Amino acid sequence: MSQSGEKVKFSDSAGYVGFANLPNQVHRKSVKKGFEFTLMVVGESGLGKSTLINSLFLTDLYPERYIPGAAEKIERTVQIEASTVEIEERGVKLRLTVVDTPGYGDAINSQDCFKTIIQYIDNQFERYLHDESGLNRRHIIDNRVHCCFYFISPFGHGLKPLDVEFMKALHGKVNIVPVIAKADTLTLKERERLKRRILDEISEHGIRIYQLPDADSDEDEEFKEQTRVLKASFTPHLLFLLHYIPFAVIGSNQLIEVKGKKIRGRLYPWGVVEVENPEHNDFLKLRTMLVTHMQDLQEVTQDLHYENFRSERLKRTGKPVEEEVVDKDRILQQKEAEVR
Ligand code: GDP
Repeated sequence: MSQSGEKVKFSDSAGYVGFANLPNQVHRKSVKKGFEFTLMVVGESGLGKSTLINSLFLTDLYPERYIPGAAEKIERTVQIEASTVEIEERGVKLRLTVVDTPGYGDAINSQDCFKTIIQYIDNQFERYLHDESGLNRRHIIDNRVHCCFYFISPFGHGLKPLDVEFMKALHGKVNIVPVIAKADTLTLKERERLKRRILDEISEHGIRIYQLPDADSDEDEEFKEQTRVLKASFTPHLLFLLHYIPFAVIGSNQLIEVKGKKIRGRLYPWGVVEVENPEHNDFLKLRTMLVTHMQDLQEVTQDLHYENFRSERLKRTGKPVEEEVVDKDRILQQKEAEVR
């Protein structure tokens, strides 16, 4: 498991991710203090996960990645790599951790891939539970996984057994957002067909993916007003976001000059596919969904997934965590006394 940290400050010319523009999030205290958000990316290697993450956050999170050969892949188990960047936009700070899972789907026994990922998610819950029960509750760092982009191959005819198994194993622990990778390899018709097929399979298998919240939920008046403002500023993306799931995206690390402007895109003999062009793919919709729903993703993580974990955990041990912490402290003190 590796963890790296770096600080990134974007100049105006580097473009915006967009989270600083969001009125409903900005007015809340937590955002003024700074946001902590953890995004996990899962999918077979080579589907373009790192490229998409770099495109999403306008940064190079994986500058020198080592790519293993086939023989090595057969032996490989999933690793967990967490990279943290601090992004600041117009005074709003985002501490973003991206958790990558290289090796997923590489090994012959795919069951093993889940274990490592489930364990990682559970460990973050466990850590939070421990911190929450400790004395210093004010400064808990929230490393829980708030969202998981699940990458689906564009080359199949829908979900693979591994996709179904993974999502079923994880949907009770994390907010899953399915994405179709490398959408530039599909014609519009193929894209539509694949999307429909995936949605059908998701419902057939009873997989629960992240649901966009209802704008008229039981929020207070102030929040409703903020949502209206937000909707207005993001129309038409927001209103139609639902119809684009699973998002069919493309990513690129290359800047290409098109009509005198530098854009992120992929250059083909017949033309340029632009990452941020909504007519070419759903990249912008995915990014809008993520930045406008960060707070909701955090709330669902807290109220649903974390609560599930907590109650299961308490049932298992039969003790409130506070008591366990006290017990652990007592044992430690005894051990220290013995050593002395
Ligand atoms: P990862 O293993 O899932 O992290 O995949 P990478 O991001 O390393 O990408 C693997 C290969 O796919 C690289 O050669 C990328 O240039 C290419 N790639 C990444 N995104 C796209 C995309 O949207 N469309 C196409 N056609 N290729 C892509």
